[in-house]
Amino acid sequence: MPIAPGTTPVPPPVFMPQATSVPTPSPLPHRPKEAQKPITSEPATSLKKDAFALPTLRLEVRDLNHDGSQAFLSSVVASKALAEAVQNVLRLLYASPKSPTTTVPPTRSVTLILRGMGGVAYTTGSELDSDHKEIHFSLDYINGIATERKKHEIMGVLTHEMVHCYQYNAFGTCPGGLIEGIADWVRLNSDLSPPHWKKVTSGKWDQGYQNTGYFLQYLEERFGPGLVQRANEKLRIARYHEKEFWTELCGRPVEQLWGDYGEAMKTEQNTKEEEEGILVEKEDAAPSVESAAAKKKEPSTTSKE
Ligand SMILES: [Zn+2]
Repeated sequence: MPIAPGTTPVPPPVFMPQATSVPTPSPLPHRPKEAQKPITSEPATSLKKDAFALPTLRLEVRDLNHDGSQAFLSSVVASKALAEAVQNVLRLLYASPKSPTTTVPPTRSVTLILRGMGGVAYTTGSELDSDHKEIHFSLDYINGIATERKKHEIMGVLTHEMVHCYQYNAFGTCPGGLIEGIADWVRLNSDLSPPHWKKVTSGKWDQGYQNTGYFLQYLEERFGPGLVQRANEKLRIARYHEKEFWTELCGRPVEQLWGDYGEAMKTEQNTKEEEEGILVEKEDAAPSVESAAAKKKEPSTTSKE
């Protein structure tokens, strides 16, 4: 579902060199001793050397008797699932923790709330402030996922929502389609795309979700890795003006890039069909059970998150 206003992180203030005239940021709230321990004392499961620092992660199950709760708890190890989603998001959206080219937002905690509700999931700032995020994930949806897809789909939705906990939105001016496209681009690059996703080249570039996600993937391949990171960084520092944004990022207006994408996908499709044609001829010569099974499509889910 579309992201509600005020649900993406507010960019941290940019401090200018004449810092003396800038008000000092207020100190962080007191953290208990437990939280101040160095990373080396964390459990062995936690972090690699170059990993980003994790925020406080919480799980709130609002209805343990719901079948979806049992399904969730038996499909994933919650602590690992949340930590993995954070690492995937940070690894894809930000350069290494020490690099000055991107700035990770000050998200301090993420609470995953499992509860009965319509739809799939949404992310919001907590009532306290926007550095504390809440991901609301529907137990009814979790319960309805086919058993063999449960873990993958839970991780996919979680990763998509986790992007909303860490991405920038150009001070609220970024088109919702681009916000959702970045979220699904991260999901795609975490190898968590569901089987029903297809590349769409008709309509507008900012239809959002996987449609924009695949478009961003094309741009990333065409202009080099890091394009989406640079886009997110631009959304941190300035308001969104479409023409400027895309011309600075890719040297062309976005409509032109979308047209190029359509052409490139047409060519890709033709090549694929030619190759499949060759394959079918081979299969005719020597029919195999395996290839027929491989072609069988998985059932699809179509809900948006
Ligand atoms: Zn979303």
